[in-house]
Amino acid sequence: MTQTSADQLQRFSFDDVAIRGEVAHLNQAYQDVLSRHQYPQPIAVAVGKLMAATAMLSANLKFKGRLTLQIRLPGNISLIQAETDEQGQLRAIARYDENQPSEELSFEDGQMVITIEPDQGQRYQGITLIEGGDVAAALEEYFVQSEQLASRFWLMCDGQQAAGFMLQQLPSKRTDDDIDAWDRVSHLAATIKQQELLELANEELLHRLYHEENVRVYPASSLSFHCTCSRDRLANALHQVGKTAISEMIEESGHIDVNCEFCQQHYRFDETDMSELFPENNLH
Ligand SMILES: [Zn+2]
Repeated sequence: MTQTSADQLQRFSFDDVAIRGEVAHLNQAYQDVLSRHQYPQPIAVAVGKLMAATAMLSANLKFKGRLTLQIRLPGNISLIQAETDEQGQLRAIARYDENQPSEELSFEDGQMVITIEPDQGQRYQGITLIEGGDVAAALEEYFVQSEQLASRFWLMCDGQQAAGFMLQQLPSKRTDDDIDAWDRVSHLAATIKQQELLELANEELLHRLYHEENVRVYPASSLSFHCTCSRDRLANALHQVGKTAISEMIEESGHIDVNCEFCQQHYRFDETDMSELFPENNLH
């Protein structure tokens, strides 16, 4: 039986060992992204996995702001990107050459870029090579580099729904017990099958894996699709282009049409909007 999971992020921890984890499920939020694009299957699957990873990383946003996870690639598919804010409001996009025959998607020679932008404070960016084309391994490498914490990621997607599972060692005075527990807990997680992660309720999944451990499950938080585009933001972007260039474009075709590449929302600016775009010129 296929059951549809709610879009949610749930944290769990182990009472007796210094390990925490997260499970993310994306169903409607993922469908909301797919419905706005015509992604070939391998790209759609990669977008789902990246959204699941981003949702799990959002738990690390302890402030108002945004986290962007990008896979930058050298081939026809140049970019896969997912973003979230601290409330788990996600959007995602893939950039690729639609004229090239769709190829097998490989992350070999790719870079993973994580950008964290607090509303207040400094932007942080970390770049990790995707060794062997393995995005989960790149995420694990990122956490070792940025937080000196061992972690494991599993990202799964069937083109309809996406899910992620992660484990992270918590800072503690390391004992041999902890090292054994980390091996045991991550070894069990590695047995999760895609269908189990996508379809089982979290409690059932955690019980199947860890019925011999004391697992504490925290209240789930919701995940959703939300695009941050707005007429104001686009007006600001057009402002950056400069008044001369913009007024030339408007003279040529009567208006400028802009489609948000994430959500396909359409925005139009014409002659009457020039004073909205360049308010400083109203003084003259
Ligand atoms: Zn948008």
